[in-house]
Amino acid sequence: MLTARQQHCLRGIGIDAWAEREVTSGNNPAAEPVADILSVVDLEDIRRFANTGDQPGFPEQIEQATNLPQSSESDLEKRGPSPVPPAQPPAAMPEVEARIPAKLDSWDSIIESIHGCTACELAQNCTQKVPGVGDRQADLLIVGEGPGHDEDIRGEPFVGRSGQLLDRMLAAIGIAREQVYITNIVKCRPPNNRDPKQLEAQHCRAFLEAQIEQLAPKVILSVGRVSAHHLLASNLPVGKLIQQMHKLPGTEIPLKVTYHPAYLLRNPSAKAIAWQDLKLLHQMLQ
Ligand code: URA
Repeated sequence: MLTARQQHCLRGIGIDAWAEREVTSGNNPAAEPVADILSVVDLEDIRRFANTGDQPGFPEQIEQATNLPQSSESDLEKRGPSPVPPAQPPAAMPEVEARIPAKLDSWDSIIESIHGCTACELAQNCTQKVPGVGDRQADLLIVGEGPGHDEDIRGEPFVGRSGQLLDRMLAAIGIAREQVYITNIVKCRPPNNRDPKQLEAQHCRAFLEAQIEQLAPKVILSVGRVSAHHLLASNLPVGKLIQQMHKLPGTEIPLKVTYHPAYLLRNPSAKAIAWQDLKLLHQMLQ
């Protein structure tokens, strides 16, 4: 139960409906029932994170998407323009043949291979590759879906409006963007911000795996449906996946799923749930 003060603060930042949920811990002892986490929440942090000022002045593609129903979580995470195309078929990985680059045994060779990759049509259509950014010794790896318009221009992941919210989310738990490593499932912008196709993600998979091997992160934060589906080889709704702790399949690396910042921009009430995810993430990084 929330105290009267907590309820007041949450209402003050536009969170009217607070849905407490059970987080099943899976294999990770750091995961606690949300109510426990909430009781240690610094309400100033909540205010700082949730009061993002994102309501007015959405960029064009996000503004268009505000016509979509508020409650449909799966497609609303997308960064792309409205109307959002139908969701891709379930992402449970079929056996596909991907062209694996020759040598991915150092950061330099990974980045060079990404820049030289011509394995799929995304490479032909993007402005530039977006390999990743951040501390190559970071404890935290953040994996998004794929570059959007701003990222395609800048060559850096999460620099647009979603990226700014991601930065604020990290700041709310005392982490600077420079302290983490950020990348995406695919390293080239999909045309019109559509979902990456299965084979495109599969081509890029070797890069992501090599980045994970080099980084050896303590925790992975998977943001959004596309990221979670590909990383976990699952097609469960994000709303379900965020209720559990996971491990990156084939490894012991804990993996936390949370909503995509673009989804949070359109659905501010979901920030309350994302905040719970962040608090768990913070604990896992201790
Ligand atoms: N959304 C993503 O998933 N990744 C980015 O880099 C930017 C927006």
